[in-house]
Amino acid sequence: MASMVKLAVTSQPPGGLKAPIIVVAADADVDTLNLHLLLGGELVEEKRLATSEKAQIDQSVCERCGKCYESCAFNSIRKIDGGYVVAPAYCEGCSVYEAICPAGAIEVKSIENGKIRVFRSRFGFPLIVGQLDVGSSGSGEVISEVKEEARRFAGRVRASLLLVDGPPGAGCSAISAISRSSHVLLVAEPTKAARHDLERVLGIVDHFGATFGVVTNRFNANPEMSPEISRLVEGRGGEVLSLIPSDEEVVHAIVNGQPVVERSPEPSFKSHNGGV
Ligand code: SF4
Repeated sequence: MASMVKLAVTSQPPGGLKAPIIVVAADADVDTLNLHLLLGGELVEEKRLATSEKAQIDQSVCERCGKCYESCAFNSIRKIDGGYVVAPAYCEGCSVYEAICPAGAIEVKSIENGKIRVFRSRFGFPLIVGQLDVGSSGSGEVISEVKEEARRFAGRVRASLLLVDGPPGAGCSAISAISRSSHVLLVAEPTKAARHDLERVLGIVDHFGATFGVVTNRFNANPEMSPEISRLVEGRGGEVLSLIPSDEEVVHAIVNGQPVVERSPEPSFKSHNGGV
């Protein structure tokens, strides 16, 4: 499903913003990262991450008894040519095999499942990007690592604003992105599904005690649902900061790989409270 509720979260130092604003940005949407495509820049650092665990069978020790094959709740053991192997994509690294295997042939080991890259964006600020390997699990842990790396950079450059682009939805990736944030900006579309997701994400925001604001994107695509989004937000003590209409300029910006505010510095819409 397309992204319907998107979040961006910020962490500010005590005392709020001080001029000049020094920004560090992080892309914590580790399953579908794209911020570096829009902000561009030079790759200055890259490192692999290991935040997931998988079982491995030592074939020289395995006695071919099949107990692991019969016991795995995730169907991660495959029988091949009379022997047994782990299908990593199915393994949850739960360690149950280590207790079951009579031969001690199974060990649960850390495996590399993603990477962190640091860019110097073409606007000059550092951009920390996390990427989960295709088919890998553990996105929440990778997001935590990305945010830790971004905090280290923020400390190094004495940043006044750490801006995190989070994932859509209300799953563990969203929880990881919101944790320890001071303010959350949520982007919702006026659909029933997005309203449902928004309600769940607001529960996460409440849990972490962050303040929040909401932007309704493509509000004119469903004029009946947009007021319902506003009522939900206001009922939770928040504010709809802006109603963004469907706009061809956004499509052109995406097609050309540009931030929309770079392509069209003059906005074609006003915020909910009259400002830009
Ligand atoms: S439980 Fe251990 S010994 Fe038995 S098949 Fe699995 S890995 Fe081999």
